[in-house]
Amino acid sequence: SDKLHIVGGGMAGSEAAWQAAQAGIPVVIHEMRPTVETFAHKTGNLAEMVCSNSFRSDDDEQNAVGLLHWEMRQAGGLLMEMADEHRLPAGGALAVDRDAFSAGVTERLRAHPLIEVSGEEITELPTDGQWIIATGPLTSGNLAEAIRAETGTEALAFFDAIAPIVYAESIDMSVAWEQSRYDKGETEAEQKAYINCPMDKAQYEAFIDALLAADKTVFHEGETAGYFDGCLPIEVMAERGRETLRHGPMKPIGLTNSHKPEEKAYAVVQLRRDNALGTLYNIVGFQTKMKYGAQTEVFRMIPGLSEASFARLGGIHRNTFLNSPTLLDEQMRLRSRPNIRFAGQITGVEGYVESASMGLLAGRLAIAEMTGHSLPPVPSTTAIGALVTHITGGAEAKTFQPMNVNFGLFPPLDGVKGGRRGRKDRYKAYTDRAKADWQAWLAVTAPTEEAGAA
Ligand code: FAD
Repeated sequence: SDKLHIVGGGMAGSEAAWQAAQAGIPVVIHEMRPTVETFAHKTGNLAEMVCSNSFRSDDDEQNAVGLLHWEMRQAGGLLMEMADEHRLPAGGALAVDRDAFSAGVTERLRAHPLIEVSGEEITELPTDGQWIIATGPLTSGNLAEAIRAETGTEALAFFDAIAPIVYAESIDMSVAWEQSRYDKGETEAEQKAYINCPMDKAQYEAFIDALLAADKTVFHEGETAGYFDGCLPIEVMAERGRETLRHGPMKPIGLTNSHKPEEKAYAVVQLRRDNALGTLYNIVGFQTKMKYGAQTEVFRMIPGLSEASFARLGGIHRNTFLNSPTLLDEQMRLRSRPNIRFAGQITGVEGYVESASMGLLAGRLAIAEMTGHSLPPVPSTTAIGALVTHITGGAEAKTFQPMNVNFGLFPPLDGVKGGRRGRKDRYKAYTDRAKADWQAWLAVTAPTEEAGAA
């Protein structure tokens, strides 16, 4: 048919629907709530905010989320328009009146002459027509089963177990060193694929004490089923015995400190490269339910990480998401069924804003395909481009976990110095470059005029 079908009227689905309808394409949103509920949603509204009422920083010069706001506003995004309309005072953050926000989105979408909202759960992968699946972290069990049957069980996860991610440049390499355990690997690059941080006995004991004492978050009701067979939070491992971590993810065997080859470390924290650019490293095995403030304090006790800055902190959540780097092409289409795009949190981005932005892009890509236009790829120098590049190929597929937008995903700049003092200039240069490139991309692609004329 000539309609675009969108499954899920959350952050991503709502924005995708708006983009398509504004460009003249008829849309059906299939939203299962309130008939079928999730443990987190409370209403039948579209674009319901399930937890915090904040879209995070609105600073579009120094912050990557703020830049996403800016890019979506430039593209006529409905969610940003509604967020701005229902904004609450919150310093530099964009906080909103959550009920007014989602009621506003719902009203605008329902009032649009080209949008139909159909209240049903989709339980199978559609075989024909143009579809965007944006069913989010709490995708219904039936649809999740259908996706698993198509992609294989390994390729769809039901929990994220996010280890903290550190900016490579903030690791103190006069303390840490590069080496794979037992120097494993064919090439020199593989033999040096990990960054290692050594601990002596006193440092290890102090670290365990801090883990045990740290503030932790609790799971939502109904959230935990099945999680303990997966991977344990480090603080839970520490609770099982003071030596557990030293025999688990922090084991020192097969590693030699290149700064002090004669000294045997008591424990070693390993970091693994997280993206092709080599700008981000995750702390191996360090998924955690510690609160954010506690995480920063505890992880900076690790030798070599005392000045670490974090691209994202750790967490464990109920979260249905695809192994996008293996399953999706650069147009966000399921490789095995290119009539289906995925968007939002299910693609392995994390957060309201990130999810909405992937909906915006998926909507535009679908429109272009339906109207017979081919779009040039979104420049990876933009926030939206950096995110989509990461999930569809830049990220390591084997260890893929959901990602927030951050400057570590952007291709490095020439000639702008790193380090703490240069950071402000560098972030400004990233956002300047992104804005110019996003505007140029929007100008070339201009879906409204193209589809309207068609
Ligand atoms: P959603 O907004 O969840 O939308 C998906 C929609 O699809 C839902 O309306 C759902 O009812 C519908 N659906 C599901 N299955 C089907 C089906 N088979 N057929 C039809 N419809 C279906 N992010 C933040 O930035 N800040 C937070 O504070 C925050 N807190 C969170 C708390 C929890 C408990 C969870 C689970 C996530 C949280 N997130 C948060 C992460 C995430 O950004 C949000 O979940 C965000 O809403 C994701 O957008 P989305 O469009 O991908 O999914």
